Formats: sequence, structure tokens, C-alpha cells
Amino acid sequence: MLQITTQRTTTPKAKPDESNLGFGVHYTDHMLIIDHDEEQGWHDARIVPYQPLELDPAAMVFHYAMESFEGLKAYRTPDGSIQLFRPDKNAQRMINTNHRMCLPSLPVEDFVQAVKAIVSFDQDWVPHAEGTSLYIRPFVIATEPHLGVRTSRTHKFIIVCSPVGAYYSTGINPVKIFVEDEYTRACPGGTGFTKCGGNYAASLISQVKAHELGYEQTLWLDGVEHKYVEEVGSMNCFFKIDGTVYTAPTVGTVLPGVTRMSCIELLKHWGIPVSEERLPIADVMKASHDGKLEEVFGTGTAAVISPVGELRYEGDVAHINNGEIGEVTHKLYNTLTGIQWGKLPDELGWTV
Ligand code: PMP
Repeated sequence: MLQITTQRTTTPKAKPDESNLGFGVHYTDHMLIIDHDEEQGWHDARIVPYQPLELDPAAMVFHYAMESFEGLKAYRTPDGSIQLFRPDKNAQRMINTNHRMCLPSLPVEDFVQAVKAIVSFDQDWVPHAEGTSLYIRPFVIATEPHLGVRTSRTHKFIIVCSPVGAYYSTGINPVKIFVEDEYTRACPGGTGFTKCGGNYAASLISQVKAHELGYEQTLWLDGVEHKYVEEVGSMNCFFKIDGTVYTAPTVGTVLPGVTRMSCIELLKHWGIPVSEERLPIADVMKASHDGKLEEVFGTGTAAVISPVGELRYEGDVAHINNGEIGEVTHKLYNTLTGIQWGKLPDELGWTV
């Protein structure tokens, strides 16, 4: 159990216009910080006014990308209360990331307590408009000033929060995806299963390339053979082929998404066959040409479910479901968003 001190801002900011929040543009009035060092472990948990950090320029995070992060949301329910969606899963994933990155972790209960504390302190910042939410960004940084490559002796765990807009302000539109056959996101034994900043830095070149070619996101293939589908941008990816829903196994190169896990549980609950066997991109393209590629969608905290309308692989283009949103895609979107915003009963006990 953390002892968290609080200091309220004397200069609260004006709340942004809820009809035009965007993503990661506005930040709440406060932030939560916990310090860590070898002698004291985690200590001095505090909520303070949102402010710049003062760090030594030799802090290890700046030089060797020694950091990890998480992303989850707080949702405003119809009765005005606020809920989180499976925050313990983010806590556990951060522990897994930190282990790989040689960073210290908070126990699951302390992570969840810290998230609840900052959301509750800044509760007026959880927006009310349809489809909006408060995005919560916990992160850990190595703060020791030291240029030798080794683990750090001091760290900070920080949470900042950002009110974010409805992802689909103009309705759900299927996205166009470019299948990356040159660059690699993750390899066996690497950091693909973690949320470390370096993964995202190294993915940008493909995002730029996809945009230049007129596509919105990159679909990553496995790093060894460039043969099997892995994930899309910052989403996991699902393919419905001839009645079965396929998604890449989380065997070290794919981020184990909380939305992915929830979709698999729902699909199984509905009796829809799910396969986590590796799926070759060639099979996806062939299924499309044979008329058997029924639905493709990405899953993630930001968009929840994002239908894919087009896939381009080398010279080949697959158009999915005539640009229409598939039945399973729709049902997952409605069910998950219904539970998250408290409009459907939470029969699976996912909200906190
Ligand atoms: N893959 C990657 C690379 C991501 O960054 C994310 C976003 N965290 C996801 C998948 C989806 O994960 P989640 O459902 O937990 O948001």
C-alpha cells in the first residue's frame, strides 16, 4: 500500500473543448511521481501540479532508452461515475516489460492504487461527451546521470493523464494497411513483447513509408522470415477467414494487448473459433482472392476496434468486405465499448 501525499495546483487550467480533444494534446492539472533508488526502493509517492521534470542531461533514459510505459483509459459512465478497464493487466504487462528492460517495477496493487489515485484527484478531467475518455500514461525512466552502459541506480515512476476525443468522431472508417516487407519490428529474444519506447522509435520509418504510399498504418511481419503476420502499428491484428478468427500468438515478438485478450475471451464465449497459430501473409492474400477473407481488424486501447478495408503486400492488394464493417468486428466494438463506458452489464467483471 502506497502512502501518497498530495499538493493541489493553485493555477488550475481551463478545461478543453470536449468536442475537439484529439489524442495526447491536453494534460490534466496534476501528475503522480514515485522515486526509486537502491537503498530505499520505491519512496516519496506524491501527486503534484503538472510541471516539467528537472533531469540531469546525463540521465540514462536519454542515452540508452532505459524506459517503459503503459497506456489505459478511465471512462465516464452514464451515472457520472468513473471506471477503469482491467488495469491489473496493464500493471502485469509493465512488470513483464520492466523485467526485460532491467527496470524496477511496482507490485500490481500499487500500480492500480497509483492509477486510481491520480484519476480520482483529477476526476473533473474525465470528459463526459460520447466516446471521450481520460488516457492514462504510466511510465518508468532511469534517472541516474551515468554514461557507462549498465543498469541505473535511480528511477522515477510517473503518471500523466490526457483527456482524449472520440477516436471515430466521423464514424468508423476502415483503414488502409501497408504490409512491411523490408523493415523488422521484433525478433525472437528481443523486446517485441514489451512496451519500451525504443520499439516505437524504430517503427517510425515504416510509418513514414506507409504514409508516403498513401496507407495509414504498417502491418508487421515476423522478423526472421518476413512471412507471418504479427501486428499493426500500435494494435494487435485479427483476420476472419472462412469462419475462423486468426490472431498472431504472443510468443515474444507481439505485444500482448489487453484488448486482444478481451476479444479472444469474447469470441470464445460466443462460440466463434479462434486460432492463435502463426498465419502466413500469403494465406491472407490467397484467402482474399478466393473470397474467403471475411474481416480484418486491429485492436488496441486507443481505437478499441479498427476495421481494415485494404491490405497491400508487395504488388498485391486485398480489398476486404467491400470496405464494409464486418459482423464480428461490429459486435466486438459494440460489446467492448458498451462495457468500457458502462452502458452494458459487465458480466465478465472487467471494470474497476
Ligand atoms: N501492439 C502494440 C505495438 C501497441 O503499442 C498496443 C497498444 N498498447 C497494442 C498492440 C494494443 O494493446 P492494448 O490492447 O493493451 O492497448
